[in-house]
Amino acid sequence: MSRVLVIGCGGVANVAIRKCCQVDDIFTEICIASRTKYKCDELAAELKDQTSTKITTAQVNADNVEELIALINSYKPDLVMNIALPYQDLTIMDACLACGVNYMDTANYEPEDTDDPEWRAIYNKRCEEQGFSAYFDYSWQWAYREKFEKAGLTALLGCGFDPGVTQAYCAYAKKHEFDEIDTIDILDCNGGDHGYPFATNFNPEVNLREVSAPGSYIENGKWVEIPAMSIKREYDFDCVGQKDMYLLHHEELESLAQTIPEVKRIRFFMTFGQSYLTHMRCLENVGMLSTTPIAFEGQQIVPIKFLKALLPDPASLGPRTHGKTNIGCIFTGKKDGKEKTYYIYNVCDHQECYKEVKSQAISYTTGVPAMCGALMLLTGKWSKAGVYTVEEFDPDPFLDALDKHGLPRIENHNPVLVD
Ligand code: NDP
Repeated sequence: MSRVLVIGCGGVANVAIRKCCQVDDIFTEICIASRTKYKCDELAAELKDQTSTKITTAQVNADNVEELIALINSYKPDLVMNIALPYQDLTIMDACLACGVNYMDTANYEPEDTDDPEWRAIYNKRCEEQGFSAYFDYSWQWAYREKFEKAGLTALLGCGFDPGVTQAYCAYAKKHEFDEIDTIDILDCNGGDHGYPFATNFNPEVNLREVSAPGSYIENGKWVEIPAMSIKREYDFDCVGQKDMYLLHHEELESLAQTIPEVKRIRFFMTFGQSYLTHMRCLENVGMLSTTPIAFEGQQIVPIKFLKALLPDPASLGPRTHGKTNIGCIFTGKKDGKEKTYYIYNVCDHQECYKEVKSQAISYTTGVPAMCGALMLLTGKWSKAGVYTVEEFDPDPFLDALDKHGLPRIENHNPVLVD
């Protein structure tokens, strides 16, 4: 028996909510609240006859802490699942603290307005001190650790696939496969084809900011930053085949460097096709990825927001995307004094996802872990007060839940390594 408030009703939230409704003995009541209420109402109407979960809906502007507090106090949930955008992480955490409710999200905080001078001063200092220049980092949410601890509440950060499952894979490798991990390579391959020359698989603004930023990795406890897309490797992915992949900065590198401190190198690679890269470079060169407003015919326009309006809605890609994703982690290290390697990953089929929950695999591979993370918190399998990333909890019940609910693991004890 539980009451869950889900904030956001986009691509990922749609999957998470549909999956929660499949586990209606635990998710007995859900309130879907988002900026645009009709999307919540449409989903609630569609699910009404398919589940015994009691679904209600609400309108909320999650940038506004007071509005959130009023909603949380009136609904009285056991857990708030933030599946809106990373821009709302801090306001929703503030509201959860004010109301004494557990919190979770799928991506770490970044500001909507990266020109805000107050934010930029802190950001510039962090770039200098830490050595990576991505707009997002954990410091903003880790600053809430003491507050959540004192309140006896849990905040679970980044419980999608990557971040999320990738960190559970690391915790699992550490618990069962290695005495000491030397290197971690996280490989995110999307072998899907949606037939458009250019589209993003999740929120275009967040996605393009991430992939157009400089790449970085951790070596011997320090960040090494490189120009965007300047380290390329090829890898032959199980069930997908040979793909080009590029080294990116990614948020879980930052937490893994702290939670598994013996690791000498942690890298993240993502596959991209040539068409995607050519379009992205061109859009970047003409200024379309900029977040700084420009004056156009008497109006202020943010180029990347305008671009978002032109691009296909990621939620509309489901019916036309074919192929598979393959996401996982390759480890090197030692067990019982011997060198060993290990690869744990999941393969997910875009069309199978569409048949099940009307979504492509990118939203599916994020929404299912969000549901499974909520399941861990609601059933008390994960319970400690404070602010935590996924690898800080026991990976076993979480990976069992993923196996059961659509994202089974595959293991390989003799993988091809990435040079
Ligand atoms: P979408 O853009 O599809 O959905 C975002 C939702 O949030 C929309 O329903 C939107 O409402 C709502 N929203 C936005 N701003 C507000 C606000 N101020 N108040 C209330 N609701 C708001 O994004 P996705 O579903 O693709 O992504 C959701 C999250 O998942 C993001 O944080 C993304 O970074 C993360 N993600 C994580 C991954 C992982 O593996 N960890 C992978 C992919 C995504 P409206 O309908 O009005 O626009």
